[in-house]
Amino acid sequence: MKVKLRCSVCGKKIKGPYIEDVNHKIYCSEVCFESQMPKCTVCGRPVSIGYTDEKTGENFCSEACWNAHLPKCVVCGKPVRKGYKNEETGEPFCSDACWNEYLPRCAVCGKPVEKCIYIEGVNKYFCSEECLKTQLLK
Ligand SMILES: [Zn+2]
Ligand SMILES: [Zn+2]
Ligand SMILES: [Zn+2]
Ligand SMILES: [Zn+2]
Repeated sequence: MKVKLRCSVCGKKIKGPYIEDVNHKIYCSEVCFESQMPKCTVCGRPVSIGYTDEKTGENFCSEACWNAHLPKCVVCGKPVRKGYKNEETGEPFCSDACWNEYLPRCAVCGKPVEKCIYIEGVNKYFCSEECLKTQLLK
């Protein structure tokens, strides 16, 4: 028995060499093969082995394109993979270091203030009750 092969994109009969993908679909040419591949969201090139954003379903052809779509750290400008986000402003941060850099400093000890005690009027941040008391005692 002779199996008749047809390109799954254009339907042409395949006589010569063909391309088969992981799902056992066959294509008559590179052009047909690429036309059914997902396109890179950034540069529009067909994506064979690439990156997929699990959340949005977007495809990326290369690490460069993947990085290009990532949010940029508001402190250093590097692409943020797994990072931190300022819940209030939605600003992304690439690392602990950048997050800490972004945080306001305690007016007393100079440590980055995560959950800040902000005193209106005094216009200063304090990292802890202790630092706040120190300031008030001055
Ligand atoms: Zn074809
Ligand atoms: Zn691309
Ligand atoms: Zn950063
Ligand atoms: Zn402090």
